[in-house]
Amino acid sequence: MTGLPLLVPGPSSTGRRFRAYTVKHLDKLTARAGLDADERLAVRAVATVLPFRTNEYVVESLIDWDAAPDDPIYRLVFPQSDMLPEADIRQISGLLAGGAPDTEVRAAAHAVRERLNPHPAGQLAFNIPEFADEPLPGVQHKYPETVLIFPKQGQTCHAYCTYCFRWAQFVDEPDLKMATDDTARITDYLRQHPEVTSVLITGGDPMIMSEAVLRRYVEPLLAPDLEHIESIRIGTKSLGYWPQRFVTDPDADETLRLFEEVTEAGKSLALMAHFSHPRELESSLVADAVRRIRSAGGVIRTQAPLIRSINDDAATWAGMWRTQMRMGMVPYYMFVERDTGPQGYFAVPLARAHEIFRDAYASVSGLCRTVRGPSMSATPGKVCVDGVVEVAGEKVFALHMIQARDPAIVGRPFFARYDPNAIWLSDLEPAFASRFPFDTSPEELPGLWAPEVLASLS
Ligand code: SF4
Repeated sequence: MTGLPLLVPGPSSTGRRFRAYTVKHLDKLTARAGLDADERLAVRAVATVLPFRTNEYVVESLIDWDAAPDDPIYRLVFPQSDMLPEADIRQISGLLAGGAPDTEVRAAAHAVRERLNPHPAGQLAFNIPEFADEPLPGVQHKYPETVLIFPKQGQTCHAYCTYCFRWAQFVDEPDLKMATDDTARITDYLRQHPEVTSVLITGGDPMIMSEAVLRRYVEPLLAPDLEHIESIRIGTKSLGYWPQRFVTDPDADETLRLFEEVTEAGKSLALMAHFSHPRELESSLVADAVRRIRSAGGVIRTQAPLIRSINDDAATWAGMWRTQMRMGMVPYYMFVERDTGPQGYFAVPLARAHEIFRDAYASVSGLCRTVRGPSMSATPGKVCVDGVVEVAGEKVFALHMIQARDPAIVGRPFFARYDPNAIWLSDLEPAFASRFPFDTSPEELPGLWAPEVLASLS
């Protein structure tokens, strides 16, 4: 502790202690949504494959049970019986109904998971850096200036989103997890990489960790010889799922002191806050949490994927961005649902995604137009869909890279043949060129980290 005075205003709300609901509560909760026995069994079958967890705040304060199971917040956290292929659900439902041994159910669930592309964007294959000739697991160095850390104790969330792109972190499959608690090796690595200016602590949700544990990851980054680290980002959905974390939890004040220490060290402390629906912003607890984080010097940037049946209309996004801006947050990203898990169930075609983005963007003031998207976080980088245009008589998608493994291609426009059904980068074909600017064979990618390339960047 630095003994810094706590500059933040005290809480004006009262909160309850965190209480999680897991698979063992699922049947009772889905009965509350009006599902019959067969539907509840199918939901349980989905929950053997994909993770399920919610909490009392989400259940009692965010879900509109009169509208369940169609309520968007219900759909945000509760598995849907048709999220996975029918044959898979029928098989696992049969095993559950017949009282099959746990090992048999787990084996069936494992087989389904293997078909769900558990680690999209080549995470396990391409992005693990090396230090002293050994891999640094639980760390990703995908773009030269940014390093991601997955703290071991931060690999859960206050609730799980049904569409989660990191679902593989939360299931009982050790081979699918990325996590570290080796802060010494991480800081040694960062010392050797002056081109890194930003560290993103991510998960799961790092804000699931107590202040004492979070401090173990944040404090070493404030060392004087890591001056090149200009910003510490924390990816979190706690403002939506458990705003008490910053207001009434026992270590809320200490957490805000930690944030103050980051800003006192001359670095930016940014929460990358995931909000999926405007209802998550309505609680006075969220307003209190935002006010306290900002008073501690933190910046809050907001982001979420565009998800069919949860937030797939322009008014929902425009309303979110306006409210966020009014509360002092900065709209940052609209993402495209990633190519993993139940993507086919939640995806919105790219052409429609761009229409929704444009209609929302056109209806908000310039202060909200800090937002970018719709953006695909894909293997080569973040690919933004700029629109559908006609060029030389051909209807095409206009795209650009917001972020790329190869900095030379950032911000350069390129084109893809129009396909009204395309939902992901891999569905697109280049237009007016034989290949996309990022089309490099995987074997060539490590070349980006060659010493001469890094030297030219720092
Ligand atoms: S908060 Fe993020 S990591 Fe956690 S379940 Fe939702 S999408 Fe996944």
